[in-house]
Amino acid sequence: MAQQDYYELLGVAREASADEIKRAFRRRARETHPDVNDGVGAEETFKSINEAYEVLSDPEKRARYDRFGTADPRAGGYGQDMGGDFFGMDDLFSVFFGGVRGGAAARPNPDGRDLRTQVAVTLEDAGAGVEKDVVVTRLTTCATCAGSGAAEGGSVRTCPTCHGTGQQRTQRRTILGVMESTTPCQTCGATGSIIDKPCPACGGQGRTNETETIRVTIPAGVPDGYTMRVPGRGEAGVRGAHSGDLLVTVRVLPHEFLHREGHDLHVMAGINIAQAGLGGTIHVPGLAGDVEVPFGGGVHTGDVVRVKGKGMPRMDGGHGDFIVHLDVLAPKKLTKRQRELLEELGETMGTGGKGDERTPLSKLRDWLGA
Ligand SMILES: [Zn+2]
Ligand SMILES: [Zn+2]
Repeated sequence: MAQQDYYELLGVAREASADEIKRAFRRRARETHPDVNDGVGAEETFKSINEAYEVLSDPEKRARYDRFGTADPRAGGYGQDMGGDFFGMDDLFSVFFGGVRGGAAARPNPDGRDLRTQVAVTLEDAGAGVEKDVVVTRLTTCATCAGSGAAEGGSVRTCPTCHGTGQQRTQRRTILGVMESTTPCQTCGATGSIIDKPCPACGGQGRTNETETIRVTIPAGVPDGYTMRVPGRGEAGVRGAHSGDLLVTVRVLPHEFLHREGHDLHVMAGINIAQAGLGGTIHVPGLAGDVEVPFGGGVHTGDVVRVKGKGMPRMDGGHGDFIVHLDVLAPKKLTKRQRELLEELGETMGTGGKGDERTPLSKLRDWLGA
């Protein structure tokens, strides 16, 4: 049978990204899965798609396929086995449905995978540090069999094929001589053991799907996008194999008026024209209470006052700065008294003469640079 082009099989362009290939594969596999599609040749197509994905999802194999039109190193005249063992049907099944068909697992690696999740925190919490509960549905060690995979009275014995190593050696004669390669043992699903009476709760995997709440401690000063690793709280391994980790990415929510840049916090603060002229101290709400912000006279809109050490904490110690952007606001409404005072002020500044149609206030604005 002539081999069909892998890219055509998945329905993607030759320059498709790894993500596009993954999506296309999932879609095509769902369409052609023998459990949902009993059309003629569906199973064959499903296997071909599986094979295409196996190659195109692996950068090395994909590069080889692009160059030689095949991912099989032997066909390319290499004589070197690059470990081209294709996914078995059971393995694919477990990828899709999170379970293993039948009793024996055919997963090539019995270790649990890392899991990823996100947690959102406010800027205040990011500044102070916080404990957060994240809810994770993960494969955990089966409570019924304590992870052994065996039912009560069942026994676990060493796999006769691989003698407990979980690896299978195969030899193949090639024109270059006998090539030996190591592949995950298919008899025991690379776990090294065989179960006579599998545990009914987990089907012999030694793990079941559980929804768990895991408390994570988020350090003060955490930046947006920071990922924390919680060891051993990813997927449990098959029958007691090594567990994966839980990777928690922290998303820091935007704040209503504080803007974070690195460890510094920026904020806009309005001051009146008297403060702009005379200077003073204002109190600006910060992350944890008001921050005292002193400034000298003669400031303009856009001037910046930096208060050292009042920004975000740094995870490695110390704090960033609190940076206040001043906004000089002229009053829209004046009391009679205020108007008199401003007019008087304007006169001392040489305004109000004949021919000058500008109001004292606009002159004052000029003077203040507002
Ligand atoms: Zn069990
Ligand atoms: Zn084995």
